[in-house]
Amino acid sequence: MATLGHVAVGLAAARLSTGPTIPTARLLLARIGLALLALAPDADVVSFAFGIPYAATWGHRGAGHSLTMALAVGVVAGIVAHHFKRGHAVRVGLVVMFVVTSHGLLDIFTDGGLGMALFWPFTNERFFAPWRPIPVAPIGLEFLSGRGLLVLLVEAGYFAPLLAVAFWPRRRPKRIDPGGAPPEARDGSDEEPDDGADAAPLPIDGILDLHTFRPRDVKTLLPDYLAECRKRGILEVRIIHGKGTGALRRTVEAVLKRLPEVVEFRLANGAAGGWGAILVTLRPQTPGDRAEGAAT
Ligand SMILES: [Zn+2]
Repeated sequence: MATLGHVAVGLAAARLSTGPTIPTARLLLARIGLALLALAPDADVVSFAFGIPYAATWGHRGAGHSLTMALAVGVVAGIVAHHFKRGHAVRVGLVVMFVVTSHGLLDIFTDGGLGMALFWPFTNERFFAPWRPIPVAPIGLEFLSGRGLLVLLVEAGYFAPLLAVAFWPRRRPKRIDPGGAPPEARDGSDEEPDDGADAAPLPIDGILDLHTFRPRDVKTLLPDYLAECRKRGILEVRIIHGKGTGALRRTVEAVLKRLPEVVEFRLANGAAGGWGAILVTLRPQTPGDRAEGAAT
């Protein structure tokens, strides 16, 4: 077994197979899951406890390290993903198959033990690469020895590039739809390590629900959002602030009062007010507005 190398493949696969908007908690789950799957073929060491010889079909580095087994695990992962509606089934299956396959393909470069039964069930022959630079890690508690540490250090050298890929910082998309060229005031807010739920581009459709934003962001978000609406000719905007203590509503009203492009605003009533909302009427945009807006 190689050890750190397998984990590095799993971590890099988790990073590369997920988009920049995946919430941090789900990325962590993907990392743990794929790192464990990358190590999974070595679960066949339990065969020693059952008295199965190393060289047997179901012994260590036997059928469990084969390409067929990796294919089977990938298919099962795809079916599980489909059943629990976790990601695209084919995509999940392919990523898992790749990660499990990588285990046997890395192990053939290790310098000890028996080879891998890569082509089981077609043949039980064990294979090694002609060039085997990775020192084999000791099995079980011996791993905690000096030799185990040495193996880890050598692997850290070989697999450093993969670990760099795995932990490269993510760039999140801006919150306001880039089609509307957000003002500079938004800069610096797009890489905050928050929960990720608000990292997707904000649709400019005339309805702004403030529930998903932090109260301290409202003062910059609101003028930006209204400016985008005016550029698109949306002059009636509903701002949903919720009921609560009324603090958020007062913040919204204070911001609206100082914006020259706001003709009037009023508390929504009836069906529209069920959520606690303010209806805003905006002045149409004229060619002189941009310069004027910059001056205020
Ligand atoms: Zn192995």
